[in-house]
Amino acid sequence: MTSVMTPPGTKAPETYIEQVMISVKAKNPAEPEFHQAVAEVFDSLKLVLAKHPEYQSARLLERIVEPERVVMFRVPWFDDQGGIQVNRGFRIEMNSGIGPYKGGLRFHPSVNLGILKFLAFEQVFKNSLTTLPMGGGKGGSDFDPKGKSDNEVMRFCQSFMTELQRHIGPDTDVPAGDIGVGGREIGFLFGQYKRLRNEFTGVLTGKGLNWGGSLIRPEATGYGCVYFANEMLKSRKDTLQGKVCLVSGSGNVSQYTIEKLLDFGAKPVTVSDSNGVIYDPDGIDREKLAWVMELKNVKRGRVRDYADKFKKAIFMPTDIKLEHNPLWNVKADCAFPSATQNEISAKDATNLIKNGIKLVAEGANMPSTLEATKMFLEAKVLYGPAKAANAGGVATSGLEMAQNSARLTWTREEVDDRLHKIMIAIHQTCYETAEKYGTPGNLVNGANIGGFLKVANAMLDQGLV
Ligand code: NDP
Repeated sequence: MTSVMTPPGTKAPETYIEQVMISVKAKNPAEPEFHQAVAEVFDSLKLVLAKHPEYQSARLLERIVEPERVVMFRVPWFDDQGGIQVNRGFRIEMNSGIGPYKGGLRFHPSVNLGILKFLAFEQVFKNSLTTLPMGGGKGGSDFDPKGKSDNEVMRFCQSFMTELQRHIGPDTDVPAGDIGVGGREIGFLFGQYKRLRNEFTGVLTGKGLNWGGSLIRPEATGYGCVYFANEMLKSRKDTLQGKVCLVSGSGNVSQYTIEKLLDFGAKPVTVSDSNGVIYDPDGIDREKLAWVMELKNVKRGRVRDYADKFKKAIFMPTDIKLEHNPLWNVKADCAFPSATQNEISAKDATNLIKNGIKLVAEGANMPSTLEATKMFLEAKVLYGPAKAANAGGVATSGLEMAQNSARLTWTREEVDDRLHKIMIAIHQTCYETAEKYGTPGNLVNGANIGGFLKVANAMLDQGLV
């Protein structure tokens, strides 16, 4: 297998990694999130390269950081006033070593090439951990669905898909939802794909239930994250029963994290959005959660309204002058960051640790900065990194693809049971891999190495492509 590869170099793994990192920064300037995601994975891979020089001689690291393909395109659309709007669309097809590209679409004004490359890179390892045959990709647009009418969102989605449809397909690249892309957007995107291609296929996941969607897909990321947290606690003979939990965000992942926490007897006490934080000392029960779901999914309102409705709750508006997020300064046992990247800074991690946090399970992608991650690991907090803890969403997307291919639908119980077993398996892989590579309990190393090995070996098997 090594015959077509560059002959082994003589550099020590650390030097090799350092040099590749320098070239990643030089080739991808002004993309700090991408650099951060790569640096975190590379740090774990030192342990692998020391044991397996074949990856270094095959220049696997240079190859794995380079997207197989990047598509960037103009998305013009008419607003309700008849004015012309122009957004930028992207799809990063990062790695197809173990299956078709798979990963969400994000619609948010902060979207740019670097953010999507970090997400696509993470997705490669996450998808590998799920045990399902899925490569990694990510896409989206700087379009902001907030404040837009349904018709505007539809016109945007139709224009976006008019270009994207050339690059995707059920055996090529299968997008899903992410921030700003939920059931409504997937519906509009799917409708336009079907119209342009004249085919009804499983080209997107997160579809509606009566047109090819899977039961439990909307719930899967949040449910999966809580299943993962439960496994982490089990490894210390503990449970979620009675645990006070901090949840950030109030979108898809947050809502179903709260729902599953309630099933496990925990007490979620916070939600947030970009305007501020709600702290409800009495806990967010099922009735309050139903109210939040209606507020966010139907009325598309802001969480500050929660404090008007439920009088004991406190609203803390976002203050950009504050160098910490007050949500992470509420005393609690467990934290479930479920909003966005880098939402836990070193200062936030200090506050969490000072207040005795026992567990951090990441529902959002890369919500902790590198410094915060390091602090959690050093403080021996149970720390479930995103690419493992939030893999339930894409795993269930994989189950949706399987049902679409077989033209079958599984029951809610069957999908939930498979999701639960996948999360247990992911935890076991991370836990055992961390031990095998000499860093017991370090699930960051476990997830990065566990995810890497399968993809790297597939790349070696498939030659220099
Ligand atoms: P949603 O759009 O449903 O919800 C996002 C939530 O996070 C909203 O409450 C939003 O508030 C808040 N938020 C987003 N950006 C910011 C920001 N810059 N500052 C403060 N708050 C912010 O998205 P999801 O729940 O789907 O995604 C949340 C996270 O989970 C993301 O990191 C995503 O990549 C990750 N994820 C999602 C998966 C899925 O299946 N959906 C799968 C795996 C990971 P506001 O309304 O004010 O913008």
